[in-house]
Amino acid sequence: MSLVSINEIHKHFGDLHVLKGITMDVREGDVVTIIGRSGSGKSTLLRTINGLEGIDDGAIHVDGTELVAGQKDLRALRLKVGMVFQQFNLFPHLKAGENVMLALKVVKGISKAEAREMAMAAMTKVGLAEKFDAYPDQLSGGQQQRVAIARALAMSPKVLLCDEVTSALDPELVNEVLNVVRQLADEGMTLIMVTHEMRFARDVSDKLVFMHEGRVHESGDPKHLFVNPGTPELSAFIQSVS
Ligand code: ADP
Ligand code: MG
Repeated sequence: MSLVSINEIHKHFGDLHVLKGITMDVREGDVVTIIGRSGSGKSTLLRTINGLEGIDDGAIHVDGTELVAGQKDLRALRLKVGMVFQQFNLFPHLKAGENVMLALKVVKGISKAEAREMAMAAMTKVGLAEKFDAYPDQLSGGQQQRVAIARALAMSPKVLLCDEVTSALDPELVNEVLNVVRQLADEGMTLIMVTHEMRFARDVSDKLVFMHEGRVHESGDPKHLFVNPGTPELSAFIQSVS
């Protein structure tokens, strides 16, 4: 049984055909990593899965909730899908913990006291309980990104989307964020991520998806694909990033 099922989706930006019939299935607990050159459609694909971008054709199902072309009501989908971006997008005037509490209160209507407890649990999970009352500018980039992860986790998503969550970080801060993602994977969180950290992708992913020019060009077991790419395009991509 798939938790996320993506069926022949298409997306255009004006004349640009960005997603050209993507089909993908993700089971509960799977870690799927999407790789591919800049502009191949990776971010657009992730953004369609939580309804940040509409689709022009096809369908997406997340835990029984359907998304089709032209759909306006995205509330049910967004409650099931968490997302973490390259930029952390924390509100600078709110404390870290208040950033985590915000959607719990506003979107889910949870009381302040309960939201605080849930936010503290999420901050504890990412190792930042003691930074609950710090403002974003008092935190390192790695810590800010961990707060952004906590903010997504606090909403108890069925699946977490991670779009190059370490790309904006100084190199020495990358591992603290990857370690949190790895811990989530180990705990059975369903993850779909885009990353340029190839060793990490190989180590934690159950499935690797190589996108090329808006299509899934190749997919399979990362341990196999990194060693035996089946197409010249994947082979060239692996060489370009290693
Ligand atoms: P990737 O994440 O693989 O680098 P993207 O999904 O960001 O690729 O982009 C795929 C293509 O869609 C690129 O050509 C990009 O310029 C274009 N694109 C992405 N978002 C928009 C947008 N909002 N409007 C117009 N074109 C876009
Ligand atoms: Mg991108």
